[in-house]
Amino acid sequence: MSREERKLRKHIEAHAKRELLKANKHLSKMRANEWKPPREKPDPRRIADDEEILPPPVKKKIHTQPDATVLTGFVAETGAGFCDILCAGVRLRCRSNAEVAIGDQVLFSAVRRRVEEVLPRRTVLSRTDPHNPRMERVIAANIDIVVNVVSLKTPPLRPGLIDRYLIATAKSGAQPLLCINKIDLLADPSELESLRPYEALGIAIVLCSAATGSGLAELGQALAGKLCVFAGHSGVGKSSLLNALHPELHLATGSVSAANEKGRHTTTSSALYQLPNGATVIDTPGIREFGLWDVSHSDLRRYFHEFDGRGCPFSDCTHTHEPGCGVKAAVGSGAISDARYQSYLRILTTA
Ligand code: GDP
Ligand code: ZN
Repeated sequence: MSREERKLRKHIEAHAKRELLKANKHLSKMRANEWKPPREKPDPRRIADDEEILPPPVKKKIHTQPDATVLTGFVAETGAGFCDILCAGVRLRCRSNAEVAIGDQVLFSAVRRRVEEVLPRRTVLSRTDPHNPRMERVIAANIDIVVNVVSLKTPPLRPGLIDRYLIATAKSGAQPLLCINKIDLLADPSELESLRPYEALGIAIVLCSAATGSGLAELGQALAGKLCVFAGHSGVGKSSLLNALHPELHLATGSVSAANEKGRHTTTSSALYQLPNGATVIDTPGIREFGLWDVSHSDLRRYFHEFDGRGCPFSDCTHTHEPGCGVKAAVGSGAISDARYQSYLRILTTA
């Protein structure tokens, strides 16, 4: 932590403590003014007209001050039982529970160093917990764009993973962006053929290379001023792209293992970076499997927009075994991409 940050942190803490002291003083004053019953027992020999007429006991309401040390902050990192919160340019570590996600806006107590409340989320990107398929794992909250970083070679394109990200993104409420990195490795434009179905669906696609700098201006422009998530298989070049967009980050990058071309897992937890163009990027750990959270079979069909209006005889057609299925016919004629249809079938049996 820099000296400047330490100074700011001290300043916030001192301010919070002063506010707490003030609130306590105020409270004790109010309590002092409260009506209290007389301590002594009344003398039974006292005659009635000598008696002091006490006002009827009015219960004074004590207006407790709202906790003046509770501030609003933005969650920049989460870990087991804690999260790092950004507030007025200062980063504070607070206690929190598993419900707090990176990107959350929270109310937190600067004195107790504790998250008090997670504010309503605009968007939520989730997946199933890889260790417990019945649990939701929130990847990030309040994001504007989910950038699915992929490469066509080293590691090879995995369309199934793109389809899962597209579904999770649509469900999250954020916008999708398909970032094709390592285009410097392409020998022939025909290698871009596998992206056709996404182009046809109107998904925003950026072709770029962290190595040569090609397409980076377009990528930077798409992200400017937005809260974004970088997601994708490890080894596709997420860290390299971040370094290329902001060379001062000096993020470690891993080399792709030649044996399996799967890439090493260089990033182990999500981290947040601020780019000079005003973009905030949450870099997520590279993953191999992406379990869709809370997507029923009937929901799944709706995420494959190219299946719409294909004239299936049943409105609840699963497009698997039904006679006269218009989707299967369209796959047969090439009007629907076979890769997308296979992806649908795979998700149907595994999600
Ligand atoms: P991450 O796991 O997604 O963060 O991937 P890294 O950024 O660590 O990159 C994995 C490997 O791919 C590294 O060896 C990078 O040097 C390499 N790499 C990244 N971007 C490019 C690119 O545009 N072209 C080429 N040829 N290699 C790249
Ligand atoms: Zn059908």
